[in-house]
Amino acid sequence: MKRSGQTEGRAREKFSFRSYISFYTRFPIPWWLFLISLLLGLVNTEVVLAASKYVIQINKGELYNGVIIGYALMTVLTSAISMGINICDEYGTQKVTYRARKLLWRKILHLPMGEVERRQPSSLISGVVNDITQASQVIHTIFATVSSVYGFARCCVEMAKFNARLSAYMLLLVPLAVGVFALVGRLQYRMMLRRYESLNTMTEFFSEHISAVKHVKAQAMEELEMEEGLRAIDERYKADLYYAFMEVLQIFSNTLYTTIGSVAIAIFGSDMIRKGQMPDTGINDFTTYKGKVDQYQAEILTHYQSLKGTQGAMQYVGVLLGGPEEDPEAGFELPENQGNADIVLERVSFGYIPQQPVLHDLSLTIPAGKVTAIIGSNGSGKSTLLKLLQGIYQPDSGRIRLGAAAADEVKPARLRRQFGYILQHNPLFSGSIRDNITYGVSGTVEDEAVFQAARLADADGFIRELPQGYDTDVGVGGSLLSGGQRQRVAIARTLLTDPRYLLMDEAGASLDHKSDMTIFRTVREHMKGRTVVVVAHDMRSVMDADYIIVLACGSLEAAGTHDELLRTSPTYRNYLELQGCALAGEEAVR
Ligand code: ADP
Repeated sequence: MKRSGQTEGRAREKFSFRSYISFYTRFPIPWWLFLISLLLGLVNTEVVLAASKYVIQINKGELYNGVIIGYALMTVLTSAISMGINICDEYGTQKVTYRARKLLWRKILHLPMGEVERRQPSSLISGVVNDITQASQVIHTIFATVSSVYGFARCCVEMAKFNARLSAYMLLLVPLAVGVFALVGRLQYRMMLRRYESLNTMTEFFSEHISAVKHVKAQAMEELEMEEGLRAIDERYKADLYYAFMEVLQIFSNTLYTTIGSVAIAIFGSDMIRKGQMPDTGINDFTTYKGKVDQYQAEILTHYQSLKGTQGAMQYVGVLLGGPEEDPEAGFELPENQGNADIVLERVSFGYIPQQPVLHDLSLTIPAGKVTAIIGSNGSGKSTLLKLLQGIYQPDSGRIRLGAAAADEVKPARLRRQFGYILQHNPLFSGSIRDNITYGVSGTVEDEAVFQAARLADADGFIRELPQGYDTDVGVGGSLLSGGQRQRVAIARTLLTDPRYLLMDEAGASLDHKSDMTIFRTVREHMKGRTVVVVAHDMRSVMDADYIIVLACGSLEAAGTHDELLRTSPTYRNYLELQGCALAGEEAVR
């Protein structure tokens, strides 16, 4: 129940500026929108400068109609151009966010399972919902920077033309500005990194604990939960305070710089006026240009800070996108007759965490076309073995073969489509019962096929009794159905895919014993001639299997038929005795 500001899913990883920029080569950017925005920005600079000239004339009292109308026109034009810039920028940034989010979702779907677990699903949710919104900032900022640099240079030239000496004094202040803003930029990076980490911590905490609120209430743990939640809220609060502080610091550094410039103009300008080197209105007129220069300079430096901030916000997503990915279509096809081949494990070792093996040097054969039961105590690696068979995880060493084909060389998607996989708890998705049963089958499915699968899973009866039958909404995660009903729908879903291999991992645990036995028998009949692998604790189902594998602490303890194991495996006999099947065992031994 450890909580900290930084979750394991968000462990900080190296994210260079290069990787940051290379992120933007991974999906199409609507350059044309940003280019239009840039061109409009450049035009706007000229309009702003023209308006400044009218302002200077007005300041001098040259209030001719042409000047007033010119000033009004330029001001209106600037507003119109700014609106055009905003439209292009907004549309462009939304498009970038949309495409980056699509890219990230695709990546998450293709992450190797080990990566999903290492990064934690809730962190991934936060990445795709929150972090990615920052992606568009960079493109927008880069274009805006070009426009600001142009504006800055043009205004500097006009300012220098107006008064070269006073402009030279202003140049002396540039290093000060660069130094201050670079420092603020560094802080900005750390601030955004922390902000998005804390956002993740909150998302992770609340998504896990709010969905388990039933258990919190059942255990009367509200008070402890309150404290845990407050810790996540605190983290976010501190990060937001830091963010607010950074904004104040940014505004302060801008104001400070402008103020120092104004003071310098006042000191040097008044001296020049006294010496007759500048007209009396000189300071005022020069300040008009200086104001524009300051504005563009502040823009450039703010863009830099924003780039650094975005680098912090995008770190998690950037590292994730640069990480390993599984290509479901890379590899060989399986031969057509593969369903009749044995599954062979050759010295397979595997661990979820490095140096902590779960399966040790496992060699065994799952015979084709038969029902094989796997037994062993909790944690002995039974479920892990089923996941390896489907290529959800890859062995650390050793090999799995399906007949002549090495599983790791077969297209992952092709391999997995060979298998039907029914777990103790199977997720259903929001939608109707029909949607859930047909999930996993592409194209249209005949109603009769859906009904047939439901009948095999002993689900047709209860579904037809529901007011909307197969169109009944199952709720989020199937929450509107009972555990047993969910399980039958999930079994129907798997059978509809007509798998070559069927893997059942405690599939009957949420069913009553009678239903479990009925479904098991029907499924067995339906799968006749195909390979079925069953992980079960109920020894009455195990005894019915054609072949039985006994695992102990990730190693093979025994394998054979029921009769063989009665003779050779004390562990197997022990399991039978514990469940009151001793008589059967003794009879067979005799
Ligand atoms: P069984 O099905 O025999 O009860 P499992 O195959 O589920 O056992 O688990 C074997 C071991 O692997 C256990 O020690 C378990 O804690 C560990 N384990 C299972 N799943 C994971 C996972 N996703 N990450 C880390 N360890 C896991």
